[in-house]
Amino acid sequence: MTAEVHVCRYCDSPIPDPDDAVLVSHEGGNSGPGWNIWAHRAHADLVEPDPAAVRILARVLLVRATRP
Ligand SMILES: [Zn+2]
Repeated sequence: MTAEVHVCRYCDSPIPDPDDAVLVSHEGGNSGPGWNIWAHRAHADLVEPDPAAVRILARVLLVRATRP
């Protein structure tokens, strides 16, 4: 059995040291439990939110703001 190696969301590099991996978020899957998003400890603060989710949220807020 091999240990799971996480991949950094920020730099797309593997994170071989488990102590250096930081769980930054969780993405839900359309079917199934979804998956965890990891980053290097040094990159955890640099990971931006999912752009698709941000775009959808921005549209919702725009419609709400412009509705009479
Ligand atoms: Zn990284």
